[in-house]
Parts: sequence; C-alpha cells; structure tokens
Amino acid sequence: MNSKKYTTLFLDRDGVINHKIDGYVQCFSEFHFMEGALKSISLLTKYFERIIIVTNQQGIGKKLMKEQDLLFLHSQMILEIERNGGKVNKIYFCPHLSTSNCSCRKPKPGMLLKSKEDFPEIEFDKSYLIGDSNSDIQAAFSVGIKSFKVSKEYTLSDWTNEFLLD
Ligand SMILES: [Mg+2]
Repeated sequence: MNSKKYTTLFLDRDGVINHKIDGYVQCFSEFHFMEGALKSISLLTKYFERIIIVTNQQGIGKKLMKEQDLLFLHSQMILEIERNGGKVNKIYFCPHLSTSNCSCRKPKPGMLLKSKEDFPEIEFDKSYLIGDSNSDIQAAFSVGIKSFKVSKEYTLSDWTNEFLLD
C-alpha cells in the first residue's frame, strides 16, 4: 500500500466510530467504541494525510446537552484514539436542529466545505468519507467525495481491512 496516497478521510461519528444508542451520547460513559474502530483509526492514520470527523449533534440544539459536554466528550474520545496510535486532526459538529435549515447539518455539505476552508490542501476527489446514514453519503456526493456506507454488519473495521488490502 502506498502511504498517504489519499489526502483526507472523513468519518461520521455515531454508528461509525461508536455505537449508536437510543437518544444522544451525552457523556463518555455512554460512548462505546465499535469493535475494531480504534485499531482501524490507527491503521488509517498512517495511510491518510489527515482524518476529520464530521458529526450532526442536534442533542445540543434540543438542549439535551451543552456544547461544553460535547467538547469534553470529544477530548476523551481523542485521548483514547491517541492512546491507540491514531490521530484525528479536526472534529466538526453541527449543533443545530434538523428544523433549523442551517447549512452544516448533513446531508448538507457545510462541514465539508468548512474543512476545505481550514485545510485548503484537501482534495475532495482524493478523499473518502465513511458514514452509516444516507445523509452522510449525500453530503459527500454533493462535493465529489467518494463515500462508503458502513453498518453493524459491515463496520469501519471491515472497510479498513478491505481498503488496506487493495
Ligand atoms: Mg452516523
């Protein structure tokens, strides 16, 4: 495998990195990594120039959690990823309600466009996005990022193993 052949790997969070739960993951005790996710992120860190998480978190818009809670949860997630040899360069989250008509909530590509502003060297056509929802796939499609859909049956770990074999 050629290292750093692709520029950027975008990952959705819930259902890709961690298990979905009923409602919203509000603290780290409710955050459970999917099987193999930590190892996968570590392997993919060596392959991609950067890894960026893009996640809808309307639990904030619903006032079920504060932005501070999410930031703290993410700092704990990052610590665990780094302990396992992985690196996440940036996390973008949309805190808005699905009814707010913001430009960042997936399937809209606002978070992807913002990432390109922040990292102009990102090349969408040499990037991948892994998500578990149609909205992830639509957001990627609208800016020309190749995407893959994962699930409980075909996880990030399964995708990573196939991808790195190529
Ligand atoms: Mg998801």
